[in-house]
Amino acid sequence: MARKSKFQAPTGMHDILPEDQPYYQRVFQVGEEIAQFYGFQRIETPILENLELYEKGTGASTDIVEKQMFTLKTKGGDMLALRPEFTPGIARAYFEHGMVDRPHPVKLYATGPVFRYEHPQSGRYRQFHQFNLEVFGEQSAAIDAQVIQMFYSMLSDLKFSHLIIEVNSIGDSQCRPYYKKLLANYFRTRQNALCADCKRRLRINVLRVLDCKEEKCQRVRAQAPQIIDHLCDECKRHFRSLLEFLDETDLPYHLDPYLVRGLDYYTKTVFEIFSERLAQQEQEGGVSRNALVAGGRYDNLLKLYGGKEVPAFGGAVGVERVAEGMRRFGFPAVHEIVPRVFLAQLGDLPKKKSIRLIEEFRKARIPLAESLGRDSLRAQLARADKLEVQYTLILGQREVLDNTIVIRRMDTGEQETVPSERVVEEIRRRLKKI
Ligand code: AMP
Repeated sequence: MARKSKFQAPTGMHDILPEDQPYYQRVFQVGEEIAQFYGFQRIETPILENLELYEKGTGASTDIVEKQMFTLKTKGGDMLALRPEFTPGIARAYFEHGMVDRPHPVKLYATGPVFRYEHPQSGRYRQFHQFNLEVFGEQSAAIDAQVIQMFYSMLSDLKFSHLIIEVNSIGDSQCRPYYKKLLANYFRTRQNALCADCKRRLRINVLRVLDCKEEKCQRVRAQAPQIIDHLCDECKRHFRSLLEFLDETDLPYHLDPYLVRGLDYYTKTVFEIFSERLAQQEQEGGVSRNALVAGGRYDNLLKLYGGKEVPAFGGAVGVERVAEGMRRFGFPAVHEIVPRVFLAQLGDLPKKKSIRLIEEFRKARIPLAESLGRDSLRAQLARADKLEVQYTLILGQREVLDNTIVIRRMDTGEQETVPSERVVEEIRRRLKKI
């Protein structure tokens, strides 16, 4: 039974315990394999950035910047923020390091923790991890489709099935302002039927009224004008092209006219990927369904940072949600190394010799378990039994003096003494036969 500790992890933050690690590792491993195949390079940016980077990029009126930032003032008086998302930091690094002069598109991936001061609930943390892809310098909807395909492949390689991609276009600076006006007019005349949050959103960011989870707001939005009918020619063409690419790849997608996403900088394509199976369980459990992946196009963000127009597309996997889904459905994680040999030592001198012998097995890449803290042979054999190893090596005082070692076959109890310099080879030969 867990003993109550004096301290607990901060609200909404969690430990990733040894037994959970294989799932997280598998997510990163599959993600990196796919990213590298598609020519993405790894980048790491600081967890802390200047607060202004997010105010300017993510958007001062977004929930993330308005309500969810972890900020701090340094001793020197700088205002910094724990990153609530990867994109602004990567975009900053792109200009700061002159990547703008490299051959384009510049394709980058990043992994690590992100922080949002959210109301903690199932699938929603204040510190969580993302696997992130960004492509800078490509306008074509082919890139949108390719990145969506990469995320989809990642989830299906992790064994998720029944995946559904939700897509929408939220237009650009040509067509969105007019649509927002239309939408604001529509909702303003129906204000009384909206929740308190949406009344506020109506003034600050009317698009967010569209993705409100409250039933009463969803009833109002059913008759609201849809952006698809108000896209400018360029956005319409881009969206049509995206859908053609998606059709070509046979990806299961669904056009969701209410998908808007919470960040200011998106233009044209926005998308989310769900596991229908997981969503069903979440709904049965009374929690709202959570996207496993989300992202979109942001053609105007980089200009804010570097003055140069650089079209871009990106997205992020929520690693906690994916890892929890994998565990729940019993999907395979990273294989743990299972030792097939155990080293038992008896007495001081054998213990000293053991240290070097263990290292020889490591160099030979033969996983070996030991229990240097135990002295009795019985206790050590019991441990070897528990680990279900095939062989136990027994190194006693006499063996050390004779330069030998005993190999014990665990299933039959047969024992054989071999010269110690041959033990690695002897074990390798025997393991090969099994
Ligand atoms: P976003 O950066 O909001 O576009 O989110 C990208 C992905 O990160 C989402 O699809 C989720 O899977 C995941 N995510 C977002 N917020 C949280 C959170 N508070 N806790 C856990 N995962 C999250």
